[in-house]
Amino acid sequence: MLTVQHLTKRYPNHTAVDEVSFSVREGETLVLLGTSGCGKTTTLKMINRLIEPTAGRVDLNGTDIRRQNVHDLRRTIGYVIQETGLFPHYTIAQNIAVVPQLLGWADQRIRQRTAELLAMLHLPEASLHQYPDQLSGGQRQRVGLARALAADPPVVLMDEPLGALDPVTRASIRREFRHLDALRQKTIVMVTHDVQEAFELGDRVCLMDKGRIQQIGTPKELLLRP
Ligand code: ADP
Ligand code: ADP
Repeated sequence: MLTVQHLTKRYPNHTAVDEVSFSVREGETLVLLGTSGCGKTTTLKMINRLIEPTAGRVDLNGTDIRRQNVHDLRRTIGYVIQETGLFPHYTIAQNIAVVPQLLGWADQRIRQRTAELLAMLHLPEASLHQYPDQLSGGQRQRVGLARALAADPPVVLMDEPLGALDPVTRASIRREFRHLDALRQKTIVMVTHDVQEAFELGDRVCLMDKGRIQQIGTPKELLLRP
């Protein structure tokens, strides 16, 4: 489904991502795990064409993403930005509608989809007309997810999706994540620095350090390895 080959990003004095290769099967969740600055976000942004790689390539369904137009890419890949990245001056409804509007969906279809997402993610209907700062951290996180899932993309990239939450909310949303129908069929690449989160949510975990992959495997494989 998604294949990353020798992906590299060099800055003048620094290599942020160094020859990273992995593939993610349809419906699989791959977690990139590592400390701050190890190149997780840069990797994610190169998959989404938000950052141009210095070398290497990304294939989606067998096609180099550079050959796909950006509209198709936005429809195929949902992106959950760090700290949710919601537009503060947009209501929740407007935030969720961003990609569908970009794709030219009719208003009626957007409303219907928004209602569906609210129900799926257990968000109150009243939140639609509120602004992000009027919601709790956990609710904002769910809106960030709703926005990424709005156009029902088969691939979802998540950058520290639980990062901004307090530990209690974090644990509760983490449990919720695993049981969300909205995420069940998706091909997911998720970034975190939280070991427990990685091992709980990842089908496979990719350990990164200084821009390189150190190990990759299922939680079981990684834990049994000497
Ligand atoms: P992570 O997501 O794992 O915290 P990042 O991918 O954000 O790591 O960053 C990887 C490394 O690349 C860091 O050392 C960061 O400072 C560096 N970096 C990121 N963006 C730039 C940039 N625009 N210019 C120079 N260095 C950058
Ligand atoms: P991250 O999103 O991984 O936490 P930061 O929040 O540290 O990265 O960085 C925010 C922005 O600054 C990003 O656009 C990133 O590319 C850029 N950036 C990060 N590190 C550097 C760096 N050392 N030099 C220049 N730009 C950087």
